[in-house]
Amino acid sequence: MKLEVDAGRLSREIDELAAITADEPPAVTRVVFTEPDLHARAWLKARCRDAGLVIRDDAVGNTFIRWQGSRSDLPAVATGSHIDAIPNAGKFDGVVGVLGGLEAIRALQRAGFAPERSIELIQFTAEEPTRFGVGCIGSRLMAGVLGPEADEKLRGADDETLHMARTGAGFAGDLGTVRLAPGHYAGFVELHIEQGPVLEREGIDIGIVTNIVGPASFFMTLEGQGGHAGGVLMPDRHDALCAAAELIVKIEALARGSGSADTVATTGICDVHPGAINSIPSRVKLGIDLRDTDGKRRDRVLEGIKSAAIEIAQQRQIQIATQMLNADEPAASSAEILEAIARACAEEELKSRRIVARAYHDSSFMAQIAPMAMIFIPCRGGVSHRPDEYASIEHIAGGVRVLARTLADLSGAH
Ligand SMILES: [Zn+2]
Repeated sequence: MKLEVDAGRLSREIDELAAITADEPPAVTRVVFTEPDLHARAWLKARCRDAGLVIRDDAVGNTFIRWQGSRSDLPAVATGSHIDAIPNAGKFDGVVGVLGGLEAIRALQRAGFAPERSIELIQFTAEEPTRFGVGCIGSRLMAGVLGPEADEKLRGADDETLHMARTGAGFAGDLGTVRLAPGHYAGFVELHIEQGPVLEREGIDIGIVTNIVGPASFFMTLEGQGGHAGGVLMPDRHDALCAAAELIVKIEALARGSGSADTVATTGICDVHPGAINSIPSRVKLGIDLRDTDGKRRDRVLEGIKSAAIEIAQQRQIQIATQMLNADEPAASSAEILEAIARACAEEELKSRRIVARAYHDSSFMAQIAPMAMIFIPCRGGVSHRPDEYASIEHIAGGVRVLARTLADLSGAH
């Protein structure tokens, strides 16, 4: 099959979508269910209708854009990503997978390909956690990782519930209907920028994602005793910040010592109370992010961090409380889809390597209900979530060709 991607049109579409932003371009800000998000969704649907595709929204605003195959009795093959963007983001994160997915379908249409299994492009609601503090809301609901209770439980600023936000945006209905049965899709493939430096550094066109890490995040609050920085002598102190410093370094050591470079731990928040130069810190809140490709190994490190906290608390006679925010499962790609992607790279004569995805993706949750894999393309300097995020149209077009061939392969070729 001869496959041609319309790189010029795709590039223009990426720019048009980037212009729908709550910020001054080139900064892209499209928080879920805000006016720019709804505008972007309408814009996308118009392009999909032009391609003759059938469009359906579910109760949380996930959009399913279907190219009907000849075998409607068989589960469809799906691709997709997100078009929401954190404040002050760039124009490629998520968008490459959505507009690239659309162009993959159009390229297959132009090539005269007739799918057996239907091919669906999914635009997922709220991949970014900006509004509700939890990311991948659409795919979590689809996979049943989040249940219908999320409607009232998830809250944004001013205590606005997910229910209020989604119905306000025009997505009504029972949230329970968003869930899809395992087997609903025969496979799911997401095209995405790497958001890391590996592919660019090694001059590789395509990253074939074998695993997506499972992230856990949690707060640890240390309660010591405050006091006057002059009046309280050292033997009498229970300084919460000194205890936190010890704990932070221990967290780093535990991650380094896990036995795998895939274990990463970051203490990204350190709130000190009362935060005065002449006052002993009485309370410190640490925000910690821990990720690994192996869920069991991650949980061992997590237990290690908790025991270290207990030990430090005893030695320094302070209190430490842990509040888990989330602990999501890592995902492994489907061997069959990995092979299909590798074949597509060979046909397109693109250089590829296997790679681990280290950020959140909707694919992590789709993996719970369908065989899954991801296709990465390089991005400049590994930079993402910034206005200067950049991927060349050559790399994007290469990714789209690989995606198109993979979808064709999985849908049953004709
Ligand atoms: Zn993304």
